[in-house]
Amino acid sequence: MKLIQAGIYQIVSPFPEFQRKDAYALRWDLEEHPRVTKGLPYVLLYFIVSRGETMLVDCGWNTDDSLLALQEQLQERGTDVTEIDKLLLTHAHPDHCGLGGRLKELTECSIWMHEAEVGFLDSRYRDPDALLGRMNEWFAKHGVDEKDKEELERSSMPMRFFVSLFETDNLVSGGEEIRVGDFVFEVIWTPGHSPGHICLYERNHKLLISGDHVLPQITPNVSLHPQQRENPLGDFLDSLDRVAELDVARVLPAHEWDIDWFKKRVDEMRDHHRERLGDMLATVGHEGSATATDVAKRIEWTTGSYDSFPPFMQRAAIGEALSHLVYLTSQGELKQFEENGVVRFQRS
Ligand SMILES: [Zn+2]
Ligand SMILES: [Zn+2]
Repeated sequence: MKLIQAGIYQIVSPFPEFQRKDAYALRWDLEEHPRVTKGLPYVLLYFIVSRGETMLVDCGWNTDDSLLALQEQLQERGTDVTEIDKLLLTHAHPDHCGLGGRLKELTECSIWMHEAEVGFLDSRYRDPDALLGRMNEWFAKHGVDEKDKEELERSSMPMRFFVSLFETDNLVSGGEEIRVGDFVFEVIWTPGHSPGHICLYERNHKLLISGDHVLPQITPNVSLHPQQRENPLGDFLDSLDRVAELDVARVLPAHEWDIDWFKKRVDEMRDHHRERLGDMLATVGHEGSATATDVAKRIEWTTGSYDSFPPFMQRAAIGEALSHLVYLTSQGELKQFEENGVVRFQRS
């Protein structure tokens, strides 16, 4: 693991498609030769220790290899996994919270998460049938053909085996201070990528643990789907403004690598979304109207075209197109109407 500064360590936790040793090697290689990889190879966890108190931020997928990765990296400093007191989750995606249930059993740690993520966890992993019904209606409403619907709807089902379920002990809403020995972490609510996403800010050391909110090279998926808030891209851009005001010397993100050029990165991300909004608007065109699915099919994605995507990526593309269309509507650029039960967007 990497020592960020006294008492703060970065741990590499592999994605299920990668062996942990390969993920470790890629972590160093990517920092030296920055590039975008086809899939994400790892998630970065942060282990914090001060005056005998400990906290782990995020925990990785629920796989044996990811548990081994955590154990062997903590062992490098002579710490046993059972010594984790607090587990804080930046959000409830499986790469961040997957090992939660297993860790709680092993360590009896207290789990901390934003209150808006709890319902999301329940509907997605505890009782997915009700959600499937809602997804079905939702796809139809946003222009997905009857024949493609079922495949899209089932596409995230395998995910739920990668999360070991748990009860959250401490719900936060933003603004709290979490103390770990001499460190004081402020909880900053940053909805957008996920409704209850949080960042942690350590003011004295000017550190921002940014989860998936600020990443050095890629931008997080900001999708509108039935478990999201009304205007997630609006939330995301507001959340960027909220963290942009902080005095940050080092960003500790959950993917890629840590960086010390925070302000520049925030500006780049704002520019990226401005450009993307322009593309989406152009895709709707001046004549007629379009559904989110039409836009997802017409737009050029950095990872390829809609038709070349596997179902789970097509789903994300529709959600991402929709979050932009809804944002453009909130800005008065588009108007939204329903025709035969299908939501359509048109230039205003
Ligand atoms: Zn995420
Ligand atoms: Zn992530």
